[in-house]
Amino acid sequence: MAWDFSTEPEFQAQLDWMREFVREEIWPMETLDLDLEQIERAMAPLQARVKERGLWAAHLDPELGGQGYGQVKLGLMHEILGTSPYAPLAFGNQAPDSGNSEILALAGTPEQKDRWLHPLLAGDLKSAFSMTEPETAGSDPTLLQTRAVRDGDEWVINGHKWFSSNASIADFLIVMVVTDPEARPYQRASMIIVPVDTPGVDIVRDVPTMEHPTEQFGRYGGHAEIYYRDVRVPAENLLGAPGAGFLIAQQRLGPGRIHHCMRWLGVSKRAFDMLCERSLYREAHGSVLAKKETVQNWIADSAAEMQAARLMTLHAAWKMDTEGASAARQDISLIKFYGANVLCNVIDRALQAHGSLGYSTDLPLEAMYRFARAARFYDGPDEVHRASVARQILRGYEPPADGVASEHVPTRRAAAQEKFADLLELVTQND
Ligand SMILES: Cc1cc2nc3c(=O)[nH]c(=O)nc-3n(C[C@H](O)[C@H](O)[C@H](O)COP(=O)(O)OP(=O)(O)OC[C@H]3O[C@@H](n4cnc5c(N)ncnc54)[C@H](O)[C@@H]3O)c2cc1C
Repeated sequence: MAWDFSTEPEFQAQLDWMREFVREEIWPMETLDLDLEQIERAMAPLQARVKERGLWAAHLDPELGGQGYGQVKLGLMHEILGTSPYAPLAFGNQAPDSGNSEILALAGTPEQKDRWLHPLLAGDLKSAFSMTEPETAGSDPTLLQTRAVRDGDEWVINGHKWFSSNASIADFLIVMVVTDPEARPYQRASMIIVPVDTPGVDIVRDVPTMEHPTEQFGRYGGHAEIYYRDVRVPAENLLGAPGAGFLIAQQRLGPGRIHHCMRWLGVSKRAFDMLCERSLYREAHGSVLAKKETVQNWIADSAAEMQAARLMTLHAAWKMDTEGASAARQDISLIKFYGANVLCNVIDRALQAHGSLGYSTDLPLEAMYRFARAARFYDGPDEVHRASVARQILRGYEPPADGVASEHVPTRRAAAQEKFADLLELVTQND
């Protein structure tokens, strides 16, 4: 019987190395206010060490310079990298470049791979994914309005996007556009590669957010607002077949959600460690916080929620590795909303236990808290994933034919009396 929670020793050694490396070399960088150039300079020697260790761009297949790790291994790795916003950069799997490299690997022609994918992997280019529009609901992408119209050998793009992460520092954008408005809803959109210096691409700002309220244009991790006005790109910039945009996005999103959930667990664990530490030294009303039942409940509930989220996520990853993306769909929706809520809960409790210190920028908790809030709606809001889970579960059920609940006790009692009539009669006679 195969039922195993162990990690093979060689990979465990890699995980141990990563944990130490991230904590010792990357966490300290968080305390400095670095601009893009400084980040890149600081990252270069760390990236070299990661490459030496054979851990660079692990999400990609070996022929593209990656490790070809399955989702379980990648998940365990992301749990460590998630502890710091800089760590994925050192390992060549930072969003959105990692997802975009997967799209290019999946749907790119050999020419597109040569021109965009290989330089992206080498770190010579940066990319962004441009889909969400201010005027339409991102949670219902069938409403997308940005249009690409074929004109001879070119696509002409017009539209308005925002929250295109890293677009203000990117060299090219993968833009989701409607190419066939008459097609069935999920076959209307396509992905097109647009170099940022194409005339008509107007990146107007990095939108200030809860995570970065004082946004500076061109900062790593910014979320850009972009107008596309009569942007002309060659027809060969289309990724995959016309109308394949959602199909490609779907293939990319499953693994992406597993990585998100594991990264959130890395953040949660860091907040949890702070919660536990605080409870041992903060004294109030005659004892340390650790002696208060409420704080004990926070610790126990957080541990239970993180363990549940971790097992659910690794199980979804295992299912994806063994049975494929569509078999894992329901599991991925489950972890997406469950994991996002665990993240928010654990950080909230850790912050509460630290009082003013937690609220201040003297600890990373307030930044974690602001970062975490978005997890409940990007990559599909909680409500949409819950609805999808419920729909899939309900497919396995039917209403009772006679309209009476199948567990209705009086009905079952009558049936049982009939079924066991002989026995009951005997018992009565013996009484
Ligand atoms: C940090 C961050 C990074 C991002 N990066 C990118 C990026 O790189 N590229 C990109 O294109 N986009 C990006 N986005 C945008 C993100 O994908 C969208 O915010 C997301 O898809 C939700 O779309 P929306 O904001 O338009 O919200 P809406 O679709 O307007 O939804 C708003 C709310 O409506 C409710 N709702 C929606 N549908 C239902 C339903 N069926 N039932 C019940 N309630 C419902 C939910 O509460 C939901 O939160 C990013 C966003 C953030 C915060």
